Amino acid sequence: MDTARQPKFVRMTNQRRVIIEILRSTKEHPTAEWVFERARRQLPNVSLGTIYSNLRILVEQGVARELFTGEARCHYDANVEDHPHFICTQCQSVIDLDITIASTAIADIEIQGHKVTAENLQFFGVCAQCLLQEEKPIEDNGDDHE
Ligand SMILES: [Zn+2]
Ligand SMILES: [Zn+2]
Repeated sequence: MDTARQPKFVRMTNQRRVIIEILRSTKEHPTAEWVFERARRQLPNVSLGTIYSNLRILVEQGVARELFTGEARCHYDANVEDHPHFICTQCQSVIDLDITIASTAIADIEIQGHKVTAENLQFFGVCAQCLLQEEKPIEDNGDDHE
């Protein structure tokens, strides 16, 4: 016990610290590829495989969360609190939802005698951004290349 006092938080390699900082800097729930593109600016020699294995460790340590959205690639979230997501089936955005139905649902489930220990609510549809774009009249005169 004569070593320097260990900080309470999980020990991290420099790589992992860069990766978690990237994840915490965005609300976009990025894929490993997106994290890789950002991480390369600070870690020029990092490989996509290293990003994947570090993301896995961060998930195991409970510092990040994996989101399976039905896409082949999973998304990562630095917010490890239970919170619902909206997934756009057009642009693949993953958006945090600020809604309260989760607690109502949990109460309903526990009335039936079960104990809820985690929630992972996902809603699918078309996001507000994509809907706006759909509403815009598409100018298709055949030759509007200026
Ligand atoms: Zn969208
Ligand atoms: Zn989220």
